[in-house]
Amino acid sequence: MTEPLEALRGYVHFLHEHEGIRQVRLTRTAQEALAKLVAGSRRPPGDGAFPAEGTPTGVPARSPAPRAHAPSTATTETDGGRRPPQLLPTAGPVAMETPIEISGADKVEQLRHLAERASVCVKCPHLAARRHTVVFGVGNPEAKLMFVGEAPGEEEDLQGEPFVGRAGQLLTKMILAMGLTREQVYIANIVKCRPDMPQGTSGNRKPTKQEMDTCVPYLRAQIDVIRPTAMVALGATAVEGLLGPVGTIGSLRGKFLEYRGTPLMPTYHPSYLLRNQSNTEKRKVWEDLLKVMNRLAMPTTDKQRGFFLAK
Ligand code: URA
Repeated sequence: MTEPLEALRGYVHFLHEHEGIRQVRLTRTAQEALAKLVAGSRRPPGDGAFPAEGTPTGVPARSPAPRAHAPSTATTETDGGRRPPQLLPTAGPVAMETPIEISGADKVEQLRHLAERASVCVKCPHLAARRHTVVFGVGNPEAKLMFVGEAPGEEEDLQGEPFVGRAGQLLTKMILAMGLTREQVYIANIVKCRPDMPQGTSGNRKPTKQEMDTCVPYLRAQIDVIRPTAMVALGATAVEGLLGPVGTIGSLRGKFLEYRGTPLMPTYHPSYLLRNQSNTEKRKVWEDLLKVMNRLAMPTTDKQRGFFLAK
């Protein structure tokens, strides 16, 4: 059952490598047929505002040349109108936690290979059948600082880039307040596909444990390639996806944890700050980010140290 899937995956790889095609999509009918094929090959169960300006300070990337790693999603045909959800098969079910092989001569190539692989992943057929894009990650392969979120929302699913909706705009302001840009850091999520919502409902849902466990090997591989000096986990789900159920975000934030040897600062998710616009909560997140800047040996200005303090 996996041979036709492997063949298709190989063909997508060929399109990426030799034809320069970055978008591959199938019609909805083809997607449904493939989702059935993959499902059939599975074993049954058992198996608000931040200060916009910061003084440019330390540069967290080891080299310039920022490069985005939005997913490569190649177009073969579409059903017209609004983009159809994108789905192509990968190598069929993979055991949870199985590390994803890293190949390629340098970080750029390694991330590209991982993004290609993720772009055709259907390990969660229910998510693959509804997604528009696989939101792999974006930023600098040489980043010293990596932000980890939960999962794409509607806007991210449409644009193929993490943190571009309202919460994303706030994250961008947080990054700028640190004196950095999105191009200097790397941003990714625990789950790369938008968690599906019941038909006719809107909003977002937290990914399930199974979805997180299934997808986290991609993030782990991204971290292994980038080797950031520090990471920020945005919200409880990001911490849980990386470390398991270690505590509430309120009790964890502000103290460095470790993810496979890399310092990990848990802090509130920007969407929490959108709901809770008090300076007290913003200051908590800002203090967490100041600690991260300190860990990265980035100088801070008086102005930065004073953000969100009562005057
Ligand atoms: N929230 C997340 O956790 N990730 C995104 O990419 C967008 C919103």
